Amino acid sequence: MQILVLTLFPEMFDAFWSHGIMRKAAEQGSITAAALNIRDFAMDRHQVTDDRPYGGGSGMVMKPEPLAAAIRAARERAPAARTILMTPQGRVFSQAIAREMAALPEIILVCGRYEGVDDRLGRDLITDELSIGDYVLTGGEVAAMVVIDAVTRLIPGVLGGADSAERDSFSNGLLEHPHYTRPPVFEGAEVPEVLRTGHHRNIERWRLTASLLRTFVNRPDLLRERGLAAEEVDIMRRWQKDLSQLLDHSAETPGGKRR
Ligand code: SAM
Repeated sequence: MQILVLTLFPEMFDAFWSHGIMRKAAEQGSITAAALNIRDFAMDRHQVTDDRPYGGGSGMVMKPEPLAAAIRAARERAPAARTILMTPQGRVFSQAIAREMAALPEIILVCGRYEGVDDRLGRDLITDELSIGDYVLTGGEVAAMVVIDAVTRLIPGVLGGADSAERDSFSNGLLEHPHYTRPPVFEGAEVPEVLRTGHHRNIERWRLTASLLRTFVNRPDLLRERGLAAEEVDIMRRWQKDLSQLLDHSAETPGGKRR
C-alpha cells in the first residue's frame, strides 16, 4: 500500500515511520509511506498556508490553493488513492473501517490545523472524511498516525503471528481475553491454572469465556450489536444458572453474611 500524508509538519512522521511495525512494514515492502509538506505547494513568496476566517472569529483557516495543489501532486503519485481528510466531523474510525482500508492499494491522508480547512475543497478533491473520535485535537497528524497504524497492522504479512490480528479486540465483535506471561506468580497474583495445562480445547474455552465476560462488563453495547454464537449462548446460560443459584441462596438467607 502506498500511503501519502499531506501535513504542515512532516517531521512529526519521521519517528513514526522508523519504529516497530511501521518500520517492519516498510522494510518488507508492505507499505511505502511519505509525508509531503503542504507549505511546499504554497504559491506566494512567503509560502502562506493559512488566513483569517471570512465572517470574523478567532483562529485561522487553511487556505484552499496550497491544499488543492498538494492533493493534485499526491494524486499524480497515487492515482487510485482515496483522499481522506482527517476531521472531527467525519465518519468515526473503527476496526471495520481499518479492515476495509487495509485492502486499498493507495491512500492520501490530509491533516488539518488551526480551525480546519477551507470548506470549498470539494468532493473531487476530498473523497472521504474520517474522525478518530468525538474530541478535538490540535491537528490531524496524530489522527492520521492512529489510522495508519491500525490499517498497516491489518495488511497481510505485517504482523508476525498468522492470526494475531484476527484475535484482537473488535475483530470478532468482542474484546480480547486477558494475556499473561512469566513469572507464573506476580505480587501474589497467579496466572490462571488452565493456561498452564497445555490443553488447547480448555484454553480456547477459557479464552472465549474471559472474552465474553470482559465484553459483557466493559462494552455490553458490542454484544447487543453482534449477537451470540451457540457456544457463547451456552457459556452465558451457565452464568445465568450460577447467578440464579446465588440469588436464590441469598434470598433464603437475607442479609446473611453481608458486611
Ligand atoms: N474547528 C474544527 C471543528 O470544530 O470541527 C476543529 C479543528 S481542529 C482544532 C484542527 C484539525 O485537527 C482538524 O482540521 C483535523 O484535521 C484535526 N482533528 C482534530 N480532531 C480530530 C479528530 N477527532 N479526528 C480527526 N482529525 C481531527
